[in-house]
Amino acid sequence: MNIMSTSPRSQAVKRDWGHDETGCTVLHIDMDAFYASCEIARHPELKGLPVIIGTGNRSVVSAASYEARAYGINSAMAVATARRKCPQGVYLPVDMPYYRSISHQIFELIAQVTDQIEQVSVDEAYVDVTAALLRWERPTRIAQWIREHVHERFNVTCSVGIASNKLIAKLASTNAKPDGMLLVPLNRHAEFIRMLPLRSIPGVGPASAERFRRWGVESVAQLAAMSESEIAQVSGSKIHAHNLWLAARGEDDRKVTPHTPEKSIGSERTFAQDTTDVQTVSNLLRRCSDEVAATLRKRGLLARTVTTKIRYDDLSHATKALTLTAPVDSAAAIFPTARKLLFAMMRMEPTDTQLPRPVRLAGVSTSGLSPAQSTALQPALDFDDMETAVGTGADVDSGATSAPPEKLRTAEKMLDSIRGKYGKGAVHLGID
Ligand SMILES: [Mg+2]
Repeated sequence: MNIMSTSPRSQAVKRDWGHDETGCTVLHIDMDAFYASCEIARHPELKGLPVIIGTGNRSVVSAASYEARAYGINSAMAVATARRKCPQGVYLPVDMPYYRSISHQIFELIAQVTDQIEQVSVDEAYVDVTAALLRWERPTRIAQWIREHVHERFNVTCSVGIASNKLIAKLASTNAKPDGMLLVPLNRHAEFIRMLPLRSIPGVGPASAERFRRWGVESVAQLAAMSESEIAQVSGSKIHAHNLWLAARGEDDRKVTPHTPEKSIGSERTFAQDTTDVQTVSNLLRRCSDEVAATLRKRGLLARTVTTKIRYDDLSHATKALTLTAPVDSAAAIFPTARKLLFAMMRMEPTDTQLPRPVRLAGVSTSGLSPAQSTALQPALDFDDMETAVGTGADVDSGATSAPPEKLRTAEKMLDSIRGKYGKGAVHLGID
């Protein structure tokens, strides 16, 4: 997993934007160089040294202390390259169980403020402080308290962005790093984001950035000058275009949705024989989606992220994930996404019937789970509106697809009760 931010920053925005906190109820909290900070916390003698997490010469850098970053080392860089750039660095193996235990304790600490925590990774979360303000009065007081206590108790620093929405809060924390706090008052959101490069908008990956660059658009300010239909022309997706158009104005209507990301519900199967037949793999993905959805409903959970997993005949594997704009618990929503991810992963056209490589195993998993009763389902959109752009590798793009029509969801709930009576294999929903 890659937790080190490589998002472009801009020194110019790291300044005082004013002190009006009205409406700034979203905090984005991000630990600084988390894995490296955890190692330094238990080996204080490493403080001030370039510490790089990742050892094997065929692996990549998972995290690097700020001292190491000064040598041009960043996440996802091959460890071999890092060693060339910084031979005197301290290279340590990844110790996930240890980082997770620290993370768990940090989140317990944050939970003393509010339960409205949307954990996005082991070291990062959005917090909606609306309710907590009754007691705390000001968002900056909460941010300051969290920063101080995380540092005091775990010897780890974190940066906090404070804004009215997730987009600006995240960009604020990114630009406050390391060990900083940045409040962007509501009336300055648009001005703030216009100072940033286009790449800084989450969801604008290298491929999108390149498409915009060919149109001469490299900054958010340039994006803000485009109409929504012009953006759609470049991005190739109406939904993505709408989100970008909003983003260029500093707007983002995504809610903070409390959840813990470690949990996932999945289903996968190995084929009797390796196959390149799209229909065979697709059928399996449908079956897996169906099982996953039934489990989600049984446990009263909704999932925001769908991941398709493939194991090839040489045992190597690949995953691709997409985060939906609304959480789901139906195969009618999960399966089309899983199938699209398969096509994207294989770089196939929708009409292709053969996979480029034989596949041994396929599966679907869902994550970003939250209890169904506390999560409002957003109004349904048509399947046709589904976003096709997806991230690379195991990255997760966000804000792309929609909930399924409510009817299909109801139909699947009925299936659950039939299955309860007649057994699991009794019925399947004919979604394609
Ligand atoms: Mg971090």
